[in-house]
Amino acid sequence: MSVPSVVPGSQPTAWTDEHRQLRETVKRYAEEQLAPHRHEWDKAGEFPKSVFKDLADLGVLGIRFDEKVGGLGLDWWYTVAYVEGLSHARNAGLVMSVLVDTDMATPIIDEIGTPEQKEEFLAPLIRGEKVAALGVSEPGCGSDVAAIRTTAKKDGGDYVINGQKTFITNGAFADFVTLAVRTGDEGHGGISLVLFPTNTPGFTVGRKLDKLGTRAVDSCELHFDNCRIPQRYLLGQENAGFYYVMTNFQGERLVASLTANMGMELSLQDAIAYGKERKAFGRPISNFQVWKHKFAEHITALEASRALTWLAVERLNGGNPQAATKLVSQSKLFACDLAQKVAYDCLQFHGGYGFIEEYDIARQFRDVRLLPIGGGTAEVMKEIIWKWTEMGL
Ligand SMILES: Cc1cc2nc3c(=O)[nH]c(=O)nc-3n(C[C@H](O)[C@H](O)[C@H](O)COP(=O)(O)OP(=O)(O)OC[C@H]3O[C@@H](n4cnc5c(N)ncnc54)[C@H](O)[C@@H]3O)c2cc1C
Repeated sequence: MSVPSVVPGSQPTAWTDEHRQLRETVKRYAEEQLAPHRHEWDKAGEFPKSVFKDLADLGVLGIRFDEKVGGLGLDWWYTVAYVEGLSHARNAGLVMSVLVDTDMATPIIDEIGTPEQKEEFLAPLIRGEKVAALGVSEPGCGSDVAAIRTTAKKDGGDYVINGQKTFITNGAFADFVTLAVRTGDEGHGGISLVLFPTNTPGFTVGRKLDKLGTRAVDSCELHFDNCRIPQRYLLGQENAGFYYVMTNFQGERLVASLTANMGMELSLQDAIAYGKERKAFGRPISNFQVWKHKFAEHITALEASRALTWLAVERLNGGNPQAATKLVSQSKLFACDLAQKVAYDCLQFHGGYGFIEEYDIARQFRDVRLLPIGGGTAEVMKEIIWKWTEMGL
């Protein structure tokens, strides 16, 4: 059943017909080819990798990337259109997997990679032939990125990598990992980023973690045992990796806000449609004023959340991700927190059916729980927002 949006006409003023067209094209693909399989892929814990090829054919795997390697060289507004369209897959695991590929593991390659690195890693990714993962978190550290222990030691023309990563999305099937390693002293000044091909001898995929949500994609432990990669796979400057990871986080957090906003829109839309059909005490449950008011509040907060996210997008389009840090953190904090409340109320509104897997809200309720954790927790967002405020920014 096609249901009108709860926020019709809520679109960035910067959008042109091109943005709307991109959103519609990706949305149509997501609704027709992905959404029908959402339950099955969630249960299976995987989805077909041909999805990456399909998205490459739609031209969306390199939206902001260098045109020399097949990217489109467009700005963040096109990413907004693409993520909003893709969210109609209604499968947070699949969406996260694809966004790791396009917006979490790879923008830093586009930004600071050499032409050879872009040709070897980005070009096939944009064609849907290679998939990427981002390897930062370790068993001993997540929020505290400066504490990572996986080492890369120089030997001849190579780096020799030893250590372990955990929680790595796409870890089981990625062709390469944008990997944070320790190349120097303890602390944030001794970290580097390298491009790590997963066919490197000594690399093994460990446990596939059994997760509460986002089940259609794996999150894995990765083990590195004397893995040799050439030094030309170093991204940017040695020991500047912490700065690169923080810069790269801005895009990761922005797309988290976008998926949170779209998830809320779809959940509210579904709930309102459900409430018009479901009757209690002789009338549709959507007629009870308590729910009308609840949804009115959520729809208002959703518009506010989107407006904040779009402010962050404008700042990112300014070309300096660092300058967008505070707005991006605010947007992630606000949208991901609101998504918890919206999912809770939409599930409650479905009564017992909200607890049943065939209703999207049951899965959504589990999936949204990741939002204030992954890519920087809500507490870390607050730390950043306060720090930037104290700096007068
Ligand atoms: C499904 C899933 C997918 C993921 N995918 C990836 C991936 O692809 N690549 C990757 O590198 N990582 C990935 N992660 C890891 C994710 O980024 C981390 O889980 C997250 O950054 C938090 O780190 P942590 O789990 O180690 O928690 P911790 O850092 O141990 O934090 C535990 C608690 O302490 C709080 N805390 C920490 N520091 C402070 C502070 N300064 N002030 C107040 N409170 C604080 C946190 O907010 C949190 O509540 C994924 C995680 C999950 C669950």
